[in-house]
Amino acid sequence: KDGLEDAENSLRELAALAETAGANVLEGLLQRRANPDPATYLGKGKAQELAELVQAVGADTVVADTELAPSQRRALEDVVKVKVIDRTAVILDIFSQHAKSREGKAQVELAQLEYLLPRLRGWGESMSRQAGGQVGSAGAGMGSRGPGETKIELDRRRIHTRMAKLRKQIQQMTPAREAKRANRKRGEVPSVAIAGYTNAGKSSLLNRLTGTQELVQNQLFATLDTAIRHAETSDGRSFTYADTVGFVRNLPHQLVEAFRSTFEEVGEADVILHVVDGSHPDPAAQLRTVREVIAEVEAQDIPELVVFNKADLLDDSQRLVLHGLVPDAVFASARTGEGIEELRARIDAAIPIPDREVDVVVP
Ligand code: GDP
Repeated sequence: KDGLEDAENSLRELAALAETAGANVLEGLLQRRANPDPATYLGKGKAQELAELVQAVGADTVVADTELAPSQRRALEDVVKVKVIDRTAVILDIFSQHAKSREGKAQVELAQLEYLLPRLRGWGESMSRQAGGQVGSAGAGMGSRGPGETKIELDRRRIHTRMAKLRKQIQQMTPAREAKRANRKRGEVPSVAIAGYTNAGKSSLLNRLTGTQELVQNQLFATLDTAIRHAETSDGRSFTYADTVGFVRNLPHQLVEAFRSTFEEVGEADVILHVVDGSHPDPAAQLRTVREVIAEVEAQDIPELVVFNKADLLDDSQRLVLHGLVPDAVFASARTGEGIEELRARIDAAIPIPDREVDVVVP
C-alpha cells in the first residue's frame, strides 16, 4: 500500500515537472509489477494498453517516471508509436531552460552529455535531422532539448573531450564563486537561505515576506541559480534572502553535482528558512531529505527555522501531526497571509546582530 502511495506521489510530481517543461499532461498510468520488463519496461500487455491510451487521448509523447535503458525506450516507442522520454530527460530539459550563470550552464551541459552518451545511437538518426541550430530553441519539444544539434553529431570521442573540458572549466569557476561568497560575507550583511522542495511555496512566501509581487508560477525550478533579495528587519537592520534551487524526487544522478554546487551557498547563510508544504502527503520524508542535504553541505549547525506552508489547506488533525514533527515550526500560508507576521518576527529574532566592533577601522 505504501509503495502505491509513493508511486502516486512520484507520478504527481512528474506531471508537475512535465508541465514546467512546457507539456500539457493528459493522463497517468500506473502499473504494479515485481520487476521491470527488460524489453519494454512495462511488459507486453501494459505497453499495448498504453498504446491504446495514447491513441484515445491523442498524446504525442509518453513520459516514463524512471530512467529507461536506451533499448527499452526504443522498444516502447515501437509499441506506442509516439516519442518516449524519461524523468531524467524532463529534468535535464528544465535545468537547461533555467540555468543562467556560466557555471550553471556548464554543469547542465555536462549532465546532458553524460545522459546522451549511452543513448547516442538511438538519438542520432532522428535528432540529427532536426532543422535549426540549437535543438532546444528550434522547438523540438520537451525532452529533446539536447546540447545542440552540432554537438549531438560529434562522435563519442569528441563528446568525451568536450566533457573533460567542461569539467575543467567548472573546476576553475569554483574559486570565483567562493571569492564572491567571501566578499558577501565580508560585507557583514546577514543572510537567510530559503530551502525546501519545489512547489513548497518558497517563492510565494518570499513575496509575502518582502512585499514584492514577483510572478509566482506553478512551476518547478523557477530558479536554478540562487536569487538574492534584500530585506530589512522591523528595527531596520538589513539582511538578504537567498532563494535556493528546489529539491525534487529522484534527481538524475548526472544532476546531483549541479544541484549541490548551487545548494552549497546554504552553508554561508546565517539562518536557514526551511519551507515545507504542510499539505504534502509525506512532509516527514521531505523534511528528512532536505535536512540530509543540509548536513552534506555542512550547514547543519546553522539555525533552522521550519515553516509549514499552505496552512490554509490543513485541518486540525494534520496540524497536530506536523506540530509533532517539528514542535517549534511556524504555520503559515503564503496564500491567505496566516502566520506571516509571526514568521517575520521569528526571522527578525534569528538574524544575528552584526558585531559593530568589527567595523571600527583603526587608522
Ligand atoms: P516554490 O517552487 O517552492 O517556489 O513554490 P511556489 O511559490 O512557486 O508555489 C508553488 C505552488 O503552490 C503555486 O501554485 C502557489 O500558488 C501554491 N502555493 C504557495 N503557497 C501557498 C499557500 O500558502 N497555500 C496554498 N493553498 N497554495 C500555495
